[in-house]
Amino acid sequence: MSENIYEIIIIGGGPAGLTAGIYSSRAGLNCLLIEKGIFGGQITYAEHVENFPGFPQGISGLELGEKLSEQAQKHGLKTIPAEVTGLELQGEFKLVKTTDGNFSTKALIMAGGATRRKLGVEGETRLTGRGVSYCAVCDGSFFQGQNLVVIGGGDTAITEALHLTKFASKVTIIHRRNQLRATQILQEKIQSEPKIDFLWNTSVSAIEGADMVERIRLVNVETGEKSTKQVGGVFISVGTNPDTDYVKGILPLDENAYIITNENMETPIPGIFAAGDIRHNSPRQAVTAAGDGATAAIYAQKYLM
Ligand code: NAP
Repeated sequence: MSENIYEIIIIGGGPAGLTAGIYSSRAGLNCLLIEKGIFGGQITYAEHVENFPGFPQGISGLELGEKLSEQAQKHGLKTIPAEVTGLELQGEFKLVKTTDGNFSTKALIMAGGATRRKLGVEGETRLTGRGVSYCAVCDGSFFQGQNLVVIGGGDTAITEALHLTKFASKVTIIHRRNQLRATQILQEKIQSEPKIDFLWNTSVSAIEGADMVERIRLVNVETGEKSTKQVGGVFISVGTNPDTDYVKGILPLDENAYIITNENMETPIPGIFAAGDIRHNSPRQAVTAAGDGATAAIYAQKYLM
């Protein structure tokens, strides 16, 4: 086979893609994994992962990503740092176009995951990296002694807020409803944290500041009352969007652009699989992503046979 032709190409180096890589390379298949960022995907944002089996004391998200990648490469998985720009899925060999050249493959596993969703308010883009952040583990230590806000009411928002209490003098969680979406265990953890308070039924309409974040504009969604809050930093945790721009019109997606698969991780196009957070109805957990990756690799091998 030419050096640019593979039996399996995996897009994405998070727990789903790396587990697919472990299974495929261990099965002796000629396999390439394409990752545009760092190995581990979303899990690298987690300071401490307590619910990945096999690590009773927990493990940092970064370390988990490194271990998964080390394990896959030990079994011979080839990886390249590149971004996928397009796909051509007709015929026996599928073409994967990337920023580092084109590759052909018989089977393709889409495991590109999801990226943090933007809030979409004025000032957000201009002040990103200047007090607006999407990752407390990456940026929290820059905000020593500051008053911070976290926007969102899911598990990520609560996890981020808990992490920020190490640095901030106060962390206010701003949520558009009066009830958190986060799991009970995280809600209980947050109750006993004196640095955290809440602004319920509140949305952020703008983030303001000359060179750095100085204040946010708020609206009470029930009363319509407007207010302003002085803040040192804004952490946005309002969910994720799947990395599927390059498959629109090629693969069937759900209304939020996640890839639709059956329980074998197969899409309607033979030889094309999806695994992990990129998939419709994924529970979006590192361990379920890893399970998806293993399933996709097993059914990709069956397809190749
Ligand atoms: P999520 O569960 O989808 O929650 C997103 C939150 O942002 C919701 O509270 C939502 O409000 C709010 N939101 C969405 N759009 C908004 C907007 N435009 N303005 C204001 N608020 C907005 O996302 P997530 O917290 O990132 O969690 C994603 C998945 O990862 C979940 O399955 C979660 O369980 C998992 N996760 C697990 C852990 C763990 O420790 N096991 C940690 C992090 C994440 P509404 O509630 O009103 O919809």
